[in-house]
Amino acid sequence: MREQLELLLKLQEIDNTLTDLEGETQDLPERIADLRRQIELTDTVVKEQETALETAKRDRTKLENDLEDANVKLDGLKSKQLVIKTNEEYAALQTEIQYTTDATSKIEDSILILLEQIEGASADAVAARQSAADSRGVIEAEIAELDREMGRLTEALTIKRDERVRVAMNIDERMRERYERIIESKGDQALVPLVDGFCTGCYKKLPSQQAIEIRRGEKFFECGGCGRILYWGGEGQDGEE
Ligand SMILES: [Zn+2]
Repeated sequence: MREQLELLLKLQEIDNTLTDLEGETQDLPERIADLRRQIELTDTVVKEQETALETAKRDRTKLENDLEDANVKLDGLKSKQLVIKTNEEYAALQTEIQYTTDATSKIEDSILILLEQIEGASADAVAARQSAADSRGVIEAEIAELDREMGRLTEALTIKRDERVRVAMNIDERMRERYERIIESKGDQALVPLVDGFCTGCYKKLPSQQAIEIRRGEKFFECGGCGRILYWGGEGQDGEE
């Protein structure tokens, strides 16, 4: 009996370790996915900055073409001044020249504003690329560490599961079923220590005669309160048998 109880305790210890390992393993894929999302987010910021820069450069090219057209038009108008015949024609031409000159300087102003924007956007894009590269390095190192952690946990799980099979093999089938049944209904521990005469699973006080028999370890006792298997946990805080 005592040997069976020890094997059951060993089984419970293994199951607790397995639960911990499985818990740690479960979180890892989500943590890795989070880190990958962070990289994607940084890449998106870089792409946005680069798109803004490209757009500003395209706008600049367009405005420069507009300016060229306006200057050609202005040259044409000015050359007409030489062949003008009447005062009305002259006045009309002056108005058009003035209008085109105004339009030209507006375009020039816009180009200046755009040049400043391009300068800013270039700096932003360089900074975004640099910071993306830096954080990518850090995050990828974290991911690699988590991958290694996952490998370690998977290996530890395999070893523990093998160990469980070996321990379970030596436990009486009826006891093993009892153990599994309690785990299923309680969700935590099937075996709990009896301390100072109390079941530490449900804190029910056991009759002293039962406590004595549990101490001897000759029989299995299920707690009348919670149904867990009791083993001797001693008297008081450090009262081991
Ligand atoms: Zn109990």
